[in-house]
Amino acid sequence: MPSVKEITILMKVPTEEDTAIITKAYYFAEQAHEGQKRLTGEPFFYHLFETGKNLAVFGVDARTIVAGLIHDTLEDGKASAEEIEKQFGAEVLFLVEGVTKLGKLKYHGIERHVESLRKLFIATAHDVRVIIIKLADRLHNIQTLSGHTNHEKQKRIALETLEIYAPIAHRLGMGKLRGELEDGAFPFVYPKEYEEVKTLLKQRSKVDEKYLNKVHRSIQKEISKQNIRDKVIRTDRRIKRIYSLYKKLLRYDMDIEKIHDIVALRVIVATIEDCYRILGVIHGMWRPLPGKIKDYIAVPKQNGYQSLHTTVFTGDGGMVEIQIRTEEMHNDAEYGVAAHVLYKDGLFTRIKGGNRNVFKKKPRWVTQLLEWQSKTSRPDEFIETLRVDFFQDRVFVFTPKGDVVDLPDGSGVIDFAYAIHSDIGNHISGVKVNDKFVSLDTKLRTDDIIEIETKKTSRPTAKWLEYAKTTLAKRHIRSLLSETDAQQEKKLFSRRFKRKNS
Ligand code: MN
Repeated sequence: MPSVKEITILMKVPTEEDTAIITKAYYFAEQAHEGQKRLTGEPFFYHLFETGKNLAVFGVDARTIVAGLIHDTLEDGKASAEEIEKQFGAEVLFLVEGVTKLGKLKYHGIERHVESLRKLFIATAHDVRVIIIKLADRLHNIQTLSGHTNHEKQKRIALETLEIYAPIAHRLGMGKLRGELEDGAFPFVYPKEYEEVKTLLKQRSKVDEKYLNKVHRSIQKEISKQNIRDKVIRTDRRIKRIYSLYKKLLRYDMDIEKIHDIVALRVIVATIEDCYRILGVIHGMWRPLPGKIKDYIAVPKQNGYQSLHTTVFTGDGGMVEIQIRTEEMHNDAEYGVAAHVLYKDGLFTRIKGGNRNVFKKKPRWVTQLLEWQSKTSRPDEFIETLRVDFFQDRVFVFTPKGDVVDLPDGSGVIDFAYAIHSDIGNHISGVKVNDKFVSLDTKLRTDDIIEIETKKTSRPTAKWLEYAKTTLAKRHIRSLLSETDAQQEKKLFSRRFKRKNS
């Protein structure tokens, strides 16, 4: 039987209060899922326990861990919303309900709408903590995916993980999680390619191992010699994750000899100045490969990643990538946003100090997500803010098959039809929204399901131009209207002409 301690030990500084509420959630979940088993045969409660552990590793606050522990009690367990609110408060209930709602989104692999679905996922979550819980939940599911007996479902979960969850983890700067999700899903989505890359990697890592040890020793010797031991916190190595390697191989004709960062050395130092200092030391030892010196400290990657990268020729024909960063940059690279959102005094805010500028370099929507959560001052105001749709300027609607279409706010059914296909737009004969027939001037709202009926003889009228919002729809309507005008003129003309001549 797992124990609460296994969770709290992973937390940075759990207070007594934290431990108490986590213990309560632990037993609550155990009871709510009593007697339930997973497909693997183990108690369902293990899934909740592991989700809680994942969250503790991410570095989130106790309340988010609590919500993680009980995230399935509404959907699959025996708990009610009232009970959760009574035991854990409105906020935990809000998180659990958010996770439950997210669980209902399904991805069927329609390329065109992947980006929309990612956005929808974020918009539906309403709170970055909900996303983080869902990611922790998915991590455990993907790690136990081989226990699934339904192969179609297995593949869908894996594909969804690769296309939706991993990119979101990436955008939230959660690099470690992203890698774990991708590597977990890879063998189920591309089994053949997975085996191929695994074999390649095995052959290479034997050679790399010895070489890397040698380089590692040289660096340590030089650091001692230059008397900067105290600047270096530790050195370690990172092996490229298998899915990440696969993606890179695709760009290099599957030629593994062309890839120089399968193994990299990492130097973790105390300050930013030390980063540049160590870079200088390394370039003093070995010649850097031109164009391979990357200063992600001065110019962080889009998701906030910071580090110095350089690739050097080590003399013996070898070449290695070296990454230099501070402990804080390292932590951010592994856990991203999760390490920055902590609950404090009824306020959800990023309170961890450090380089705030990092957030300025994050994608706009991530920055907004974080800011929007830190701006509120009262708990009720906080909840109110969470209700405001994050993507205010977009509506997310569905085809009857469940594909997501992402349109600007104020769009109507005609815009939807043209977004699907111009042929459908040009021949609308009737529209159903949520199973009810509606008029053509009907505006769309997020979550609407829209069904368009078409007839060959149906044609746009001038009125449609007033109903449509998107330029795409308007363009098609205009071009068809002018076409029709021209045809009619022609017809009229030829009739008159015939009359005259008869
Ligand atoms: Mn779950």
